[in-house]
Amino acid sequence: MFINAVELKWSNPVQETQKYKAYSLNNFRDIPQMAAVSEALKFDIEVVGHVLPFKTNNFVVDHLIDWENVPLDPLFVLTFPQRDMLLPHHYDEIAGLIRAGADSAAIKTAANRIRLQLNPHPAGQVSHNIPSLEGEQLDGMQHKYRETVLFFPSQGQTCHAYCSFCFRWPQFVGLSDLKFASREVDRLIAYLQANPQVTDVLFTGGDPLIMSARNLALYIEPLLEADLPNLRRIRIGSKALSFWPYRFLGGNDIEDDSDNDSEDLLALFRKVSESGKHLAFMAHFNHPRELAPEPVQRAILRIRQTGAVIRTQSPLLRHINDEPAVWIEMWNRQVDLGCIPYYMFIARDTGAQHFFSVPLVRAWEIFREAYQHVGGLCRTVRGPSMSANPGKVQVLGVSEVNGEKVIQLRFIQGRNPDWVHRPFLARYDESATWLSELKPAFGEAHFFFQDELEQFYRENLSTGHPEDYE
Ligand SMILES: *Cc1c(COP(=O)(O)O)cnc(C)c1O
Ligand code: SF4
Repeated sequence: MFINAVELKWSNPVQETQKYKAYSLNNFRDIPQMAAVSEALKFDIEVVGHVLPFKTNNFVVDHLIDWENVPLDPLFVLTFPQRDMLLPHHYDEIAGLIRAGADSAAIKTAANRIRLQLNPHPAGQVSHNIPSLEGEQLDGMQHKYRETVLFFPSQGQTCHAYCSFCFRWPQFVGLSDLKFASREVDRLIAYLQANPQVTDVLFTGGDPLIMSARNLALYIEPLLEADLPNLRRIRIGSKALSFWPYRFLGGNDIEDDSDNDSEDLLALFRKVSESGKHLAFMAHFNHPRELAPEPVQRAILRIRQTGAVIRTQSPLLRHINDEPAVWIEMWNRQVDLGCIPYYMFIARDTGAQHFFSVPLVRAWEIFREAYQHVGGLCRTVRGPSMSANPGKVQVLGVSEVNGEKVIQLRFIQGRNPDWVHRPFLARYDESATWLSELKPAFGEAHFFFQDELEQFYRENLSTGHPEDYE
């Protein structure tokens, strides 16, 4: 029923470890494979790379991208800026400045102005989710859902390469309001003591595994040593398995390439398991090809041997993975390798969303068709889900009630836990790409959660307004 068009061969073995080499705007033309790429395409990369973050590396270039398939190759689209990621007038403005030989300050001013028009802080991230303790704001932390606190370690705010769709992009271009304090882990522990309902801490970034094992241990060991019976799970969100698997194989560490600390990192993972807490490695894979390289498979095995469990998640992205066959192959591969499929997300309403977005109804069709074609062990995945302001909202599907076509939705997570798993209905809309574009079914004025959400905005003295619930 589906055509398996996914090429998974790992045909280019490399030695055990490899030296990390980053490519960005100033040196991407040195990439050997770029010689065969047209000048027009290189110019596009340069223009868009001035506005949206761009960084890749030698593993991505040599082992993930299929250069014969550029510019359509999904892994190329995943990691290189694409012309249509900017709106035409934004593209023309930057292109004009570059062609006219404008100085870098002028280009930067224009780029910053454009960035501010790209909804750099979706889902109320900055204004609504920062927790506080004894009246003091805890910068570098977010607490939106009762059980789980997000923690952004200050040294973990970059990645081994950047994804072109990333909603964290403001952090990489210096636009973010995330600020970090020196006593951050002490304050995290104090917050966990004061909030016994929290069971999970999720280390996120950027990519926390950009840090050396020694630095990561400065966060994790105090958490284990503090007596925190409510803390049951430590999660680490990372794309390192895909973008730099040598992180787990004795490869060169990125912070200090004399510091070959994969063994220390794995020992730290083991220590979490042995302390009786669960280490959840939240791995980010967007395409099955990322699971093919032999080093990736070896890295997965080594992580699993520490007692950590790898769970996988990805947004659904046009031009990258918007076909059921891709997800079927990806989930099957993940389960074969001992990973547990966790979430399929809808692309977030920020940055280049217009380029990547898939309408909600289509997203549901892709999810459903893929889900139907995999065995039960792959069906731990949930989605498609929007991380929207009121919560994580899953598109359950399209149905008809009394002759009216409707979209069924429900919360997987909610600002108010009581909203979770209450189905609600929106008017059918084939082109809507986000919750904020949906209207309640049957001509009703509000979704059931909206009054309470507005009250939340008022109480939090935020700038959010009633219509702004994306
Ligand atoms: C997704 C998410 C979490 C974790 O939710 P789970 O469903 O437990 O994985 C926590 N905080 C925020 C802000 C999130 O978006
Ligand atoms: S690895 Fe994650 S945080 Fe880093 S660029 Fe990709 S999506 Fe963003």
